[in-house]
Amino acid sequence: MAIAASPYEDTRILVLMYHAFDRGKEPLTVDGWQFERQLLWLRDNGIAIVPTSALAMFLRKEKPLPKRAAVITIDDGDKSVHAVAWPILKKLEVPFTLALPTKLMNENKKHRMLTWDQVREMVDSGLCEVASHGHEHKSIVHFSNEQAVRQLETSRDILEKETGQRPIAFVYPLGAFDARTSALVEKVGYSMAFKASGAPIGMDCCDPYALPRMGIVHQDTVWSLGWYFSPSFLGRMTRLPRGR
Ligand SMILES: [Zn+2]
Repeated sequence: MAIAASPYEDTRILVLMYHAFDRGKEPLTVDGWQFERQLLWLRDNGIAIVPTSALAMFLRKEKPLPKRAAVITIDDGDKSVHAVAWPILKKLEVPFTLALPTKLMNENKKHRMLTWDQVREMVDSGLCEVASHGHEHKSIVHFSNEQAVRQLETSRDILEKETGQRPIAFVYPLGAFDARTSALVEKVGYSMAFKASGAPIGMDCCDPYALPRMGIVHQDTVWSLGWYFSPSFLGRMTRLPRGR
């Protein structure tokens, strides 16, 4: 059931950052059953799970969102996304965004990555959006302007060629960015960029090229989500000056 939209200033959004699923106790992996519990918790608590494109429209004041919303992002293109997370996301009809490093996807060393066929299957369902996570998954802060632009453009072009979807979001590899590189992301034409550290998002609070995300790691449970969506945590919205 769709949740009604709220006035722009009342909405708080948390972007959740996942990496891999059912890979033992590795810190960045989340157990499949736990992932499903978390998605159900969001649904049962009236939190709308929305795609990245809806967040972009909200930030441009083109379309409001419900009072509480979450965005599911999954970084790095680990093959466990298709094996474990995808059946759950599909069953619950939850929209999500894959942040993919295109060179690593193309090489697919040790077959640890998703295949492009698997990505296309998820994109074609209408639930999955793709974001660039760089070409080589290296911090763009250490690149010259020219090299950084090449990473930004090459990854976008490969994603568009492989999936038919032109990515609107850039996800900073290793979470690293600065004023110079975030300006390049904007100049190349991305609508928004995500970092790897967290706070809630609200209208006029955040630089759209440094949007915060909350990392969900192995020890996180629905209790973590309960805290993140509590009034005291949502009150921690960082008010950053716009413009760099
Ligand atoms: Zn990454």
